[in-house]
Amino acid sequence: MLEAHEIASGYGPVSVLHKVSMRLAQEEVVAVVGANGAGKSTLVRTLSGLLPLRAGRITLDDASIGSASAHSRAKQGLIMVPEGRKLFAGLTVRENIDLGRSALGRRRSDPDPMEVLGEIFPIIAERENQRAGLLSGGEQQQVALARALAGRPRYLLLDEPSLGLSPALTTQLFETIAKIRENLPVGILLVEQMVDRALELADRAYVIERGRVVMSGTATEVAQSSAVQRAYLGDT
Ligand code: ATP
Repeated sequence: MLEAHEIASGYGPVSVLHKVSMRLAQEEVVAVVGANGAGKSTLVRTLSGLLPLRAGRITLDDASIGSASAHSRAKQGLIMVPEGRKLFAGLTVRENIDLGRSALGRRRSDPDPMEVLGEIFPIIAERENQRAGLLSGGEQQQVALARALAGRPRYLLLDEPSLGLSPALTTQLFETIAKIRENLPVGILLVEQMVDRALELADRAYVIERGRVVMSGTATEVAQSSAVQRAYLGDT
């Protein structure tokens, strides 16, 4: 279980998160929704170790990781896919994926992740030797996900994976996340602007407003609440 206990963080003089508590179990998909600037990316960056924790605790299977580096957290199985994908454009698809693996000290004798990843992402097998920079945005998003999964996370943090994708590619992305859930033992924290899609897919959800959790529950409960319908699902 990945757990945040009343965490706070921010930037310089600006406090963004205030006493945020949440949890993510392995093999569940948990959505984090909220308006622009609510603090969703800040939450993901704090959980992954890119931003320092200012108060509270973060635990991974009951061990405190709140002061560990992002690299150390990734080695322990907590991996983030940042907004904007950030592939190495000049490297091939295969090389990008291998980096996701070797950077975390996964051994060569470990099973080749390409086999299972090839089933989830057909693009990986088809474009293995193509430079990542030549792929479309949707394809690059798939490679970014595959690269993260090659590091064998137990917990995967996805920050706005649909950003910049067309509606058709967004549909494909959500299908891919569903396939990951079916095929791999990984808990997924999904920060998304596409609130309806995220709540359709997720098991549970948290709503964040101005750096605080204002609602949590099963994804169905959250989707049916009138506040969420008004604010994020376009109902009046
Ligand atoms: P969005 O969906 O627009 O990315 P978000 O919910 O992810 O929104 P955050 O990116 O976490 O929101 O931003 C939360 C607050 O922190 C905002 O008020 C934002 O202006 C501020 N903020 C974000 N990054 C920085 C930074 N590097 N320095 C200072 N303030 C920042």
